[in-house]
Amino acid sequence: MDTSPAETFGQPQTTRFAPSPTGELHLGNARTALFNYLLAHHGAGGRFLLRIEDTDAERSKDQHTAALIEDLKWLGMRWEAGPDREDARGPYRQSQRLEFYARYFAELEKRNAVYPCYCTPLELEASRRAQLASGRPPRYAGTCRDLSPEQRQTKAQAGLKPTTRFRVPLGRRIEFVDFVHGSQSFLSDDIGDFVVRRADGTAAFFFCNAVDDADMGVTHVLRGEDHLTNTPRQLMILEALGLRAPSYGHVSLIVGSDGSPLSKRHGATSVREYRERGYLPQAMTNHLFRLGHSTPEHGFLSLEEMARAFDSTHLGRSPARFDEQQLHVWQKEAAHRLSPEEALRWLDPVLPKGLGPAAAHTFIAAVLPNLVLPEDARTWVDIVFGDLPALPAAEQQLVQEAGKSYFAAAAEAASAHGNDLPAIANAVRAATGKKGAALYMPLRAALTGVAHGPELAPLLKAMPPGKARERLARFA
Ligand code: GLU
Ligand code: ZN
Repeated sequence: MDTSPAETFGQPQTTRFAPSPTGELHLGNARTALFNYLLAHHGAGGRFLLRIEDTDAERSKDQHTAALIEDLKWLGMRWEAGPDREDARGPYRQSQRLEFYARYFAELEKRNAVYPCYCTPLELEASRRAQLASGRPPRYAGTCRDLSPEQRQTKAQAGLKPTTRFRVPLGRRIEFVDFVHGSQSFLSDDIGDFVVRRADGTAAFFFCNAVDDADMGVTHVLRGEDHLTNTPRQLMILEALGLRAPSYGHVSLIVGSDGSPLSKRHGATSVREYRERGYLPQAMTNHLFRLGHSTPEHGFLSLEEMARAFDSTHLGRSPARFDEQQLHVWQKEAAHRLSPEEALRWLDPVLPKGLGPAAAHTFIAAVLPNLVLPEDARTWVDIVFGDLPALPAAEQQLVQEAGKSYFAAAAEAASAHGNDLPAIANAVRAATGKKGAALYMPLRAALTGVAHGPELAPLLKAMPPGKARERLARFA
């Protein structure tokens, strides 16, 4: 059986992101969403869909769906259709597609491609253990595959609620070309008959995921490697129903700095956590774009530029390492590119209350080059707007070595010209003959309390009037 669809790269592509709303948007899923978005928009006329896989009513929560949508939008993604943007191929929540599934189940029943399985969880577990004990890989033993109508009736009358299993054809080879991993070949005999409908009547993942892709016209499924071995099952379902299969590609998982799958041990793993800490969406997308996807583009890219540069033949088969240092490089770049209004919104939580917009902009312009996260601005808020504590030893020494006449000249210039570094430096130079570091370092130490930091002149401009004079006069 060769189910590889005709290659359709180059033609308008339809991709989708199909999360199960059981928790926060994980970085791995965010990357999957991004890659699908980019794949769809690489060429003209592509479509990116958002489908919510919420058939597991117990674990799926509407609030998770809402949060997923919010996080995807925050990252900058938009979709041509989704639960908040329905079209003729919807609905885009699986919990609202039950009648479609019922129709397909009826069709599978008619074609004898499925059968009811009355095995209890206990019986299945016993069979699994027996197979493991005799060194065989565990799969469904086929117990209910060939029950007679009478046997089925007896079981049903005993009140047993059956699951529905797919009748995997015997002795078949299932082949397809994964657009990341290349040619794949599976033996149907290694795949046990699997559940397509649970005992409570709800559709199981393999089934609804596959038929929805066909119904929604999805041409390319790009998803995590953990789904690679599900693909032959899904191809068999589609074949049994005479539905068109998409191209499948499976990207490597994201790992943490130690090479193990990214998890809580590595720190924040959800988009929401990064967002709340003040990471910027463009920093996230620029890092994710390069995780498991190699690109000659080394610069900071917008989503449009990423879509143009995205190359599905450059997707990686080996695990991609999430690297917070690298994220910080993009974050600095993203912060640098914020408009004054965006920067104001970004830093608002750490700015002093009641600071006017003009003063805020002056402050932000001074400190922005030194920030990775908004919380990094706190130190500079204290330095610029607060009272300086006693100087640390090294700074104290710098100030003492400069001497009282140095600071007398500086304080006088500050009272004449305000928080104006060139005027102050000129006056000190004229009075003391100092230049270079000997001229500027004691000023910096006295004015900010630390020997390092953002450019001094803009920082001084951000200080309340009179502050420079007051700080310089302390040492005069
Ligand atoms: N709901 C599945 C998941 O979140 C979707 C897998 C797929 O993309 O096909 O893992
Ligand atoms: Zn059974």
